[in-house]
Amino acid sequence: MSNNLLETPIEYLKGVGPSRGQLLRKELGIHKYGDLINFFPNRYIDRTRYYKINELQNTGSEVQLIGKIINIKTVEFAKNKKRLVATFVDETGALDLNWFQGHKWVRESLKLNEPCVIFGKCSLYGSQFSMAHPEIELLSEHEKSLRSAMQPVYPSTETLTNRGISNRTINKLMEQLFIETQALFTETFPSYLIEELKLISKKAALFNIHFPKSTEALSKAQFRLKFEELFFIQLQLITKNLIRKHKIKGHPFTKVGELFNDFYQNHLPFQLTNAQKRVIKEIRSDMGSNAQMNRLLQGDVGSGKTIVAFMSMLLAIDNGFQACLMAPTEILANQHFIGLSELAQTLGINIKILTGSTKTAARKIIHEELENGSLHILIGTHALLEDKVKFQNLGLSVIDEQHRFGVEQRSKLWKKNDIPPHVLVMTATPIPRTLAMSLYGDLDISVIDELPPGRKPIQTVHRFDSNRLKVWKFLRDEIALGRQIYIVYPLIQESEKMDYKDLMDGYESISRDFPLPQYSISILHGKMKPADKDSEMKRFSEGKTNIMVATTVIEVGVNVPNASVMIIESAERFGLSQLHQLRGRVGRGAEQSYCILMTSHKLSADSKTRMETMVSTNDGFEIAEVDLKLRGPGDLMGTQQSGVLNLQIADIVRDRDILSLGRNYALKILKEDPALQKPEHAVLKAVFIELTKKKNIWNYIS
Ligand code: ADP
Ligand code: MG
Repeated sequence: MSNNLLETPIEYLKGVGPSRGQLLRKELGIHKYGDLINFFPNRYIDRTRYYKINELQNTGSEVQLIGKIINIKTVEFAKNKKRLVATFVDETGALDLNWFQGHKWVRESLKLNEPCVIFGKCSLYGSQFSMAHPEIELLSEHEKSLRSAMQPVYPSTETLTNRGISNRTINKLMEQLFIETQALFTETFPSYLIEELKLISKKAALFNIHFPKSTEALSKAQFRLKFEELFFIQLQLITKNLIRKHKIKGHPFTKVGELFNDFYQNHLPFQLTNAQKRVIKEIRSDMGSNAQMNRLLQGDVGSGKTIVAFMSMLLAIDNGFQACLMAPTEILANQHFIGLSELAQTLGINIKILTGSTKTAARKIIHEELENGSLHILIGTHALLEDKVKFQNLGLSVIDEQHRFGVEQRSKLWKKNDIPPHVLVMTATPIPRTLAMSLYGDLDISVIDELPPGRKPIQTVHRFDSNRLKVWKFLRDEIALGRQIYIVYPLIQESEKMDYKDLMDGYESISRDFPLPQYSISILHGKMKPADKDSEMKRFSEGKTNIMVATTVIEVGVNVPNASVMIIESAERFGLSQLHQLRGRVGRGAEQSYCILMTSHKLSADSKTRMETMVSTNDGFEIAEVDLKLRGPGDLMGTQQSGVLNLQIADIVRDRDILSLGRNYALKILKEDPALQKPEHAVLKAVFIELTKKKNIWNYIS
């Protein structure tokens, strides 16, 4: 067993020492032997071939040459800027090697007139090839070293390169590590699993990932390690879910009471779709059990999630509990409040709203009513999370548009009571199922996969800015028919000032083209005071204005059924999921709706794909798939969650099949042996315990 050995601090490895040790810790997070062994290459280069200088081509690819250095000098190439130049020769010619940093260290390490192997990218200046910051190794060492056909390339940083820790250094340290540990790595899978999946051993996998002898060996090693990584994440997530179901008590809502039945029989504003019915059943059965519900409700924009949330809240109230609904923006909270108040009134339910702009007096009443239990439903923003907000008995928390809230906030809502409320998280961001499972593996998932009947699919077109006159003519026609229009401008934090100018310029020119008194225009952006935003939104939703010029403030959830056209300006600057969200603002009424994507003529390949995707489909899941391919999962949620999963080797997008496989095996194993008590699962249990000790699973999910 080398488990203990793998705990050894990295500076003890021969060739590391205190100063390199500190660098490895700081730059690469490598603290121990075990971290280094799990530090995987991000690509491989074929180093079986040696080039001659007269064979070099200007392709920018990395090449390897044998020769010697015959001369070293320092050259000033700009004021106070020096580079170190070494002349490298073989029997066919000469090549300049350049260093722009780390002169002292490089100079000391270079040996003149000794056969060496250099490796790096060649570039052509005039007729002369040169190579910047090459890797150099004496030929004698090169021949001695653990040679492999595929040369691994490890992730690096500028600081590391400058301080002389090259890829070659890492490679050597890795060799040393294998020597010191004698590669006695503990197997982490039971043998039946290894046989069933035809996996290679842990030891072989680690060896071949660092020193692959062939592409076959490499791909087997990659498969084994990716599977392992994804499998153990799933094992943790699923276990967490199972434990929650067994251990975390919830309030059992045993009654389907008067309110629910009265509403269902007498006050439903429309017939529920089958998908809505199915989802309500799932929620009811969750909340009827003794365990806390933690459910993610996915449904495309306009699929009717709100009514599902409302009916779930009725179940809570029927059982003597309070409910709350938290929305990411004030506009959305208001809209929910207005919509749900109407329904609540018919049932005699007390419902209130709490946001940042709620006045002190109103706040006081809310606090009181919450604590004495007379307030049934509280709608709001983050303000709901304040410590002063205390429910008498919160039974259900609904969180709308979940991606705006972090996991932390979710758990904060739980903590308000001894027994946590049931939690229903609603999102309109269609997440492909495989990804949803790995992101929210601890949540159960319900999907509304059907739109209410009678909706006409939104027609989407892509127009260039040069066609604006025609588009404007179309808008006048629609307005003449009594419809309303959204015109949305991008607003991205980095270029906020310029975007704001674009928006204002746009607003001015639209005001000129659609002048008063014939037309009236609303404007909505993040810099406005909440009260002004509300009143502008209100004017538009009441039909008092024809056009709403806005930034993406309106992206989430705003509902104005009479709005039938969505114009998206500079559409090339939006991501797919955002475009889809925006488009979802129209198509909510009975009329045919349109989405017009305005772009300049200059479009990148990705932008073109995005426009084409939007034009060709209304299906959020299909769009999400394309989005995932274009952007990778890190960006999928349209938030800053770069690297949603901190994976060492697997890639959620590319390795989705392996992910499913891992999940299925994890499910199967836990179903048969939930506590991993069977002798053959002892190895799994050991890793599992190790992982839970080391990292909370939330570390995977930022
Ligand atoms: P989202 O899922 O995007 O939050 P909403 O709950 O806001 O969607 O519903 C969108 C619109 O569809 C609302 O105007 C709502 O009243 C209406 N709606 C919801 N369910 C149905 C249904 N089953 N039949 C007809 N209209 C519905
Ligand atoms: Mg909604």
